Order: sequence, then structure tokens, then C-alpha cells
Amino acid sequence: MANDYRLNQVWLECARCGHRVPFVRPLVACERCGGEWLDARYDYDHVRGLWPAVLRGRPFDMWRYRELLPLRDDTHRVTMGEGGTPLLRATNLGLMLGCPHIYVKDERQGPTGSFKDRQASLALSVMKEHGITEAVVASTGNVAISYSAYSALAGIKLWAFLTSLVPSEKMREVALYGSEVIKVTTTYDQTKKVAARFAARKGLFLDRGIRNISARESMKTVAFEIAEQLPALLDSPSGGSRRDTPWCAPDWYIQSVSGGLGPVGVWKGYEELMMLGLVDRMPKLACIQVAGCAPMVHSFNKGLEEAEPVLNPQTLVITVATGSPGPAYTFLARVIREHGGAFEAVTDEETFRAMHVMAKLDGISMEPAAGVAFAGLFKLLSKGVIKRDEVIVVNCSGHTFPVEKHLLGDKWAQTVEVPTQAPIAEDGLLGSLERLDGRVRSIAIIEDDPKATLLLRRILQTRGEYRIFEAHGGAEGIEMVRRERPDLILLDLMMPDVDGFAVLEALKADDDTRDVPVIVVTAKELSAAERERLTGRIEKLMQKGSFTDEELLEEILKQAA
Ligand SMILES: *Cc1c(COP(=O)(O)O)cnc(C)c1O
Ligand SMILES: [Zn+2]
Repeated sequence: MANDYRLNQVWLECARCGHRVPFVRPLVACERCGGEWLDARYDYDHVRGLWPAVLRGRPFDMWRYRELLPLRDDTHRVTMGEGGTPLLRATNLGLMLGCPHIYVKDERQGPTGSFKDRQASLALSVMKEHGITEAVVASTGNVAISYSAYSALAGIKLWAFLTSLVPSEKMREVALYGSEVIKVTTTYDQTKKVAARFAARKGLFLDRGIRNISARESMKTVAFEIAEQLPALLDSPSGGSRRDTPWCAPDWYIQSVSGGLGPVGVWKGYEELMMLGLVDRMPKLACIQVAGCAPMVHSFNKGLEEAEPVLNPQTLVITVATGSPGPAYTFLARVIREHGGAFEAVTDEETFRAMHVMAKLDGISMEPAAGVAFAGLFKLLSKGVIKRDEVIVVNCSGHTFPVEKHLLGDKWAQTVEVPTQAPIAEDGLLGSLERLDGRVRSIAIIEDDPKATLLLRRILQTRGEYRIFEAHGGAEGIEMVRRERPDLILLDLMMPDVDGFAVLEALKADDDTRDVPVIVVTAKELSAAERERLTGRIEKLMQKGSFTDEELLEEILKQAA
């Protein structure tokens, strides 16, 4: 360890005039030209020789990339296991959408449950290195939570300014860590101004969000980790290798965007990996915003260089309600114009639906701000902007407990009432259970692919009380329908023995089975003649890979209701 130890070399470089100074104290603007966009630079030749061999021996957390982080001395690290989050394959979502390569960067698994933990760890470490003992931050929730936790560990006093729109669960968590919590009854953008004025008056260090070097630099580690994790997933039997470099970039990096810190940092991360020869191409960025506060999306659609602010955000997803994104927009708009990518807006409702889909399909529950990214993925796929065979990474950037009430509506649980009075409670209990049973409907799945069967079963099971019968071929299916008389049939067309068309003919020719409604679920591209054979005999034709959201599941349920 002692031999490996050296002070990390870090410089700040002005994006406007190129002036360079060692990064040894906080600096808000270039000393030569006053430019406000300063970029951290490192000894890349040294890193090229060191990585990736030396990384093999380091723990999988964000500090394994210490040479490209703006902390000089490791003894100042404020750390509790941030970064190093899993990259999960979204198996069931992928099956449903017909996309084999959707991966979820699971940032929920940070110490305070969001990807702000990377930012907080680095920012508080650098503050400590620069001798700062008291700091001010403005936040829509997650930054305040994370900075509060890390400032507790660092022994730095924190003043957290939050817009009063932040949900009280998040607010309480900030207070728990011992920060001074200042609720400001206005938007986030105005709250930032109040915080800045306070810091200036008291002479305290202000964390300036995206203009803070640590904040941007920390987000590079998301890019580094994905690049390092992807090869193993893509080289697996279902992947197939597609590169000459040790690491690789996805085709798409998707994130819900507020201030734009994440994608700006991730972009810089891939630029550095290109420079080091570790990846051979850049990803396309997809920045997803909530429709009620989408200044980047609107400004991009209008072809603007600078973002036109949204003065009055209208959304329940407060975490991403930055109305005035500033320099991040200018940066991201240029990147997306020059390299491809997308800005997209999704409604609150689409967001909540996407959260439900992800929880039910792949067991991943997330906070609304992260749901925005998945809703964006669904939209960009259905528009054909993202192709189904592309390698897609979605940043699942955060999580909140407890689940918010408006998400679930009032029908998320059923009550089994147990009478409290004697004698023999069991009678009453049985009665209640029977009442539940009375609602059960039955559905037959006739499908030869076991994976597809499993997925359909899983979708149905999460949506209500269904008795499900499965047949794995046409002949078996006909027999099963005659025997069980289901309320609905889900039918595949391509089966090796008796195909779906023949099954349909047999069922329609039989008085007992003629009236059972049928939904065809198929991957087959149908000819006009084949469509003709189905007309009038089925309730609905569903093309596999085209049901991008719950609307089509609703179709199944409507028939069996
Ligand atoms: C901060 C945050 C965002 C927005 O990230 P930016 O990169 O700053 O735009 C999205 N989702 C969650 C959960 C966040 O905490
Ligand atoms: Zn300058």
C-alpha cells in the first residue's frame, strides 16, 4: 500500500481560455478570464499505464477510480460504500418489449438510496481537504439527504435549503442527520437563490451544484462502472461480443434529468475512457424530463442554445423539478445535436405507470424521479428512436420509503375480515375466503415457448385473482379448453404440432368452446391472408414486442373481467 501511495495530481482548466491551475482550494471562476466552467484535468499518461491492471486488486466501489477524481490525498476520503452498484439485466421487461439488452444501473443501492451518494462522498471529501467546516446546499431532496449523511460523517455542519414542495418523508430524513433544515416556500430555482444569498451573507461555502467540480466529477464513476460491467453481460451466451477494447459503452445511457449533472458527468467519463483507449465509442444520451417541468425538452425542440426556464413547474415529481437548468442544457444540447441522443418528456401519469411496470415485471421498485427514465425508455422505443436490439442502460437513480399513497390508489389490497366473536372463528374466515374466491376467473395460455408462458403468467398473477391453465402445444391446448372451460384464452400462433390457426378452427367448430374469447399473442408478422383467417374469430391481436406499456395488459384483463 505504502508504495502505491502518492498525492493525486489534479488541475482545473478553464473551458473558455484554457488557463490551468492546480486544484488545491475552492475556485468559482477562472482567475484569468472570469469563465465559470472549470474542468478537472489529470495525469492521463500515468493513468493509462496504471489502469486497468491495478484496478483488478481494488474493491468495486467508486474510489477504485481515484486517479480520475479531484481529491489529492486519500486520507481525506469520506466514504461509506458509495458506488459499485450492480448492473442488472431487465429480463422480463426485455422479454415483454422484445429488447434483449436493457440493463438497469441500480443506484438505489447507495448508502442513502440515490446516486447523489457518489456526489456527496466526493464533495464532502474535497471540502474536508480544503479545510471547509460549514457549508450550504440547495436541494429538491436527494442531495440534501445524501449531503447530510456524509456531512455527519465528515464532521462538517450543513445548512440544507429545500423547497417546501419536497415530500415530508424526504424532509424528515434530512433533519435526522442533524443538518439545519430550511424550508423555502417557493420553487427550487428560487430556493437556490435564497441559499446563495444566505451563504454570501454568512461567508459560508456554497455547493454550487453542477458548477461544483466534485459534483460533475463524481458522476463519471457511473460511466466507468457501466463500461467495466457491460462486457461480462454482453459476452454471455445471449450477448455476443462487439468490440476490440477491454471495456465498452452502451448504445444508450438513459436518465431522468433535472439539473443535468448526471448525463454531463457520464459524458465526460466516456470521453476520458476514449482518451485512455478503454472504450471505442461514445453512448447516445437520452435525457428524460417530466412534462410539467421540461425546459430542456422544449428548448431543444425550439432549437435554442440556452434553456428557456419553466417558471412554474407543474409536477408531483419534485425531485426533478429544476425549471432553470442553466449551463447543463447548453452542454447537453450540443452533445445530442452532434452525437445523436434524445430529449424526451413524459407525464406524471406515464411515470407512475412505468414504476408499476418495473416493480411488477422485474421486482424493481423505485422513486418517481427514477420512474421518469423508464417511462422515457418506453416512449423512445415506441417512437423507434431507440432500436430494440441496441444496448440500453437506464440509470435507476433513486428510491424513497415509504410508498406514496397516490401511487397505489385505493384498491391495492383486499381485506379478509375475521369476525372477532366466538364460536369457531374458522367458519367466518372460510366464508370470507370463499367470497374472495367467487371473483376468480380462469385463463388458458396456449403457448409452446416456456419463457413466454412464464411472462404471461407473471403479468396475470400481478394483476388479480386468476386461475391459470397452461398448454404447451396446440393439441394439448384444445383438450385443455374443452376440459377446463376457461373465461379467456391467450393463444400463440406458431406452435410445432397443431398451430394457432388450427386450434382456433377446432374451438370455433365446437359448440362448447365456440364462445370463449381468444386473444392472440404472437411474434409472427401476419400476411393479409392470415389476418383474414383471424378476423371475427378473436377479440384482439397482440404483436409481441409492441406492447410497450400496460394498456395492452389492460386488454387481456378487460376480456376476463
Ligand atoms: C438528482 C436526481 C435526478 C436528476 O439528476 P440530474 O443529473 O441532476 O439531472 C433524477 N433522479 C433522482 C432519483 C435524483 O436524485
Ligand atoms: Zn479562463
